[in-house]
Amino acid sequence: MRVVLLGPPGAGKGSVAQLLRDRLGVLHIASGDLLREAVKANTPLGIEAGRAMARGELVPDALVTAMIRDRVVQAGHGRGFVLDGFPRTAAQAVALDEALAAAQAPVDRAVYFKTSPAMIVKRLAGRRVCAACGQNYHATNRPPRRDGVCDRCGGALAPRADDQPETIARRLAVDEAQTAPVLAHYERRGLLHTMDGDQSVEAVFDQMVAAFRRQGWLQQGTEP
Ligand SMILES: [Zn+2]
Repeated sequence: MRVVLLGPPGAGKGSVAQLLRDRLGVLHIASGDLLREAVKANTPLGIEAGRAMARGELVPDALVTAMIRDRVVQAGHGRGFVLDGFPRTAAQAVALDEALAAAQAPVDRAVYFKTSPAMIVKRLAGRRVCAACGQNYHATNRPPRRDGVCDRCGGALAPRADDQPETIARRLAVDEAQTAPVLAHYERRGLLHTMDGDQSVEAVFDQMVAAFRRQGWLQQGTEP
């Protein structure tokens, strides 16, 4: 499966991506993490991205898509990848198409998690993230084994600064306006698949895998 996950914050994209990684061995590419790692590791692309950030500029789309392409190529095509957090604009979607076509690993599905505002608010308010490794948890849906402590690395869990209720409504409006052209891009290419994001993460995961298996989009050896 070579798939991009689209939808508002709180739609469950990150959680579903983590399940795809843990259960199917699919490469999980979270664009924010990828960028931070490249800057920290001082790769040539990371150095260039770091310069843009130091100047207070956005990292150019071509740089981010080159990082994604390199990660996909390094990992081999194997079981495919799930991309979470990118593209956020139609221009980024076009840049991503070009980079992945060059790597002969084009996106074969864009999955949109259509989610109601009430469900999003409920989810974001309970969300906790590990300060050390970035693993996501949820107070009720996906609690850690020990309260406030990351299962993977023992790091401290905290709410995200932008998950305060008063900022959520504003983020949703911005996100919706930005996402519409991205959805239109994948719709035009015949790649858009819409799922009900109000369901539990487990239900979305199961339905997604079943749909992908039916359509033959699971790479060989990719079985739960
Ligand atoms: Zn952790």
